[in-house]
Amino acid sequence: MSTSPMPADAGPAFATLPLPPATLENLQRLGYEAMTPIQAASLPLALAGHDLIAQAKTGSGKTAAFSLALLANLNPRRFAIQALVLCPTRELAEQVTQEVRRLARAEDHIKVLTLCGGSTMRPQLASLEHGAHIVVGTPGRLMDHLERGSLDLEALNTLVLDEADRMLDMGFFDDIATVVKQCPKQRQTLLFSATYPEGIAKLAAAFMREPKEVKLVERHAATKIRQLFFEVREDERLHAVSLLLDHYRPVSTLAFCNTKQQCRDLVQVLRAQGYAALELHGDLDQRDRDQVMVRFANRSCSVLVATDIAARGLDIAQLEAVINVDVSPEIDTHTHRIGRTGRVDAEGWAFTLASMDEMGRVGMIEKAGGFESEWKKLAELASAGKEPLHPPMRTIQIVGGRKEKIRPGDVLGALTKDMGFAGTQIGKINVNEFSTYVAVEAGIAAEAMKRLSAGKVKGRSVKVRLLDD
Ligand code: AMP
Repeated sequence: MSTSPMPADAGPAFATLPLPPATLENLQRLGYEAMTPIQAASLPLALAGHDLIAQAKTGSGKTAAFSLALLANLNPRRFAIQALVLCPTRELAEQVTQEVRRLARAEDHIKVLTLCGGSTMRPQLASLEHGAHIVVGTPGRLMDHLERGSLDLEALNTLVLDEADRMLDMGFFDDIATVVKQCPKQRQTLLFSATYPEGIAKLAAAFMREPKEVKLVERHAATKIRQLFFEVREDERLHAVSLLLDHYRPVSTLAFCNTKQQCRDLVQVLRAQGYAALELHGDLDQRDRDQVMVRFANRSCSVLVATDIAARGLDIAQLEAVINVDVSPEIDTHTHRIGRTGRVDAEGWAFTLASMDEMGRVGMIEKAGGFESEWKKLAELASAGKEPLHPPMRTIQIVGGRKEKIRPGDVLGALTKDMGFAGTQIGKINVNEFSTYVAVEAGIAAEAMKRLSAGKVKGRSVKVRLLDD
């Protein structure tokens, strides 16, 4: 489950908003008891019909904020695309689709469609023929559909730009402009962004109408993310990562490198030392990428080593640490990176390794962040004698997925009812098109493999593989 429990004293109740009773009931069923700060700040304005520029990052509840607003503008009886959400990546688009679907459950038959690159066109064209109320997608693919005439935005009344800063980072300005120009002028536009680089003002000026701005001063940010800096020589940089892991023992760590080559080198070093480490960068094909993300999110991989571009759109609820293996070239990037730890109600570490050559950049980061960096020495990290760090879970891949109509419940049922494991020993279950991934406690992995190979899932024998390279 990705739902993050909110602190008891969170915010005002959703019932203070002009929302239909069915929506309020659904929110309660979802366990959304109170509004998160971004929801409390943006929903009254958005539900009153204003255009909005809201500063919010992943984990703040921003998806629900714009989803509730676009659902409020929607007429379920009108079967035409009335809302469009633009996202930087497929992963984010899929998460947004899930959240919109959950929130749309209060109404019958609201159809949400995801249109992203990296998937074949034909099924998308078929789905568009069938029609939808809401489309969530990436700018490039949406543009393709507009060019082919397969996407009709005439009935649109809400446009959402999610993670607008990242879309700009990825060079989507022109694509966004092309898509927006095909939207009716009469509409509500909601823009969400973690940071405000220059391009955001440009987007707002070009495509929004007297937008209201919602900025949150993050009261907890400073205490929730503990930033520590370590001075390193170039020849000790990669080794320093394992010193940090052994000392602080974070279950899930996202390590950022500035180049693909550095990612590869670090993963090699970590693996040689026995860590469960995987790399995520632009050279992976979509299937490998999906598998890496599943394994990291289900806690069977301790360290994910990524470039900034590859890590975009990655949404991991529990991330104990971020390591800046290299100091990021841009200040905004540094903020993005460390903002991934310490989400919602969890604390997080942000470690930065800096060589003498990088001190200037650290100085700029300090200045921009208005803090004084706290420095520690590598030699102070006591790791000797500690057990090596292992992930709590392992991933079993089952050949067969959505194509075979496998659902998470089928796998959970097989492991618990038929094979005698406790539900608590089973972690996340991800069903992809052709594969299903199930995380199990590391201690039962071998036995689970044995029983799954000998047993049946959904009445059929299955091929299984333990992922541990
Ligand atoms: P987001 O920032 O949209 O990625 O949301 C982060 C997580 O918080 C998601 O898993 C949501 O389901 C969850 N969430 C959003 N709003 C609330 C709320 N008001 N109460 C509890 N959980 C929430």
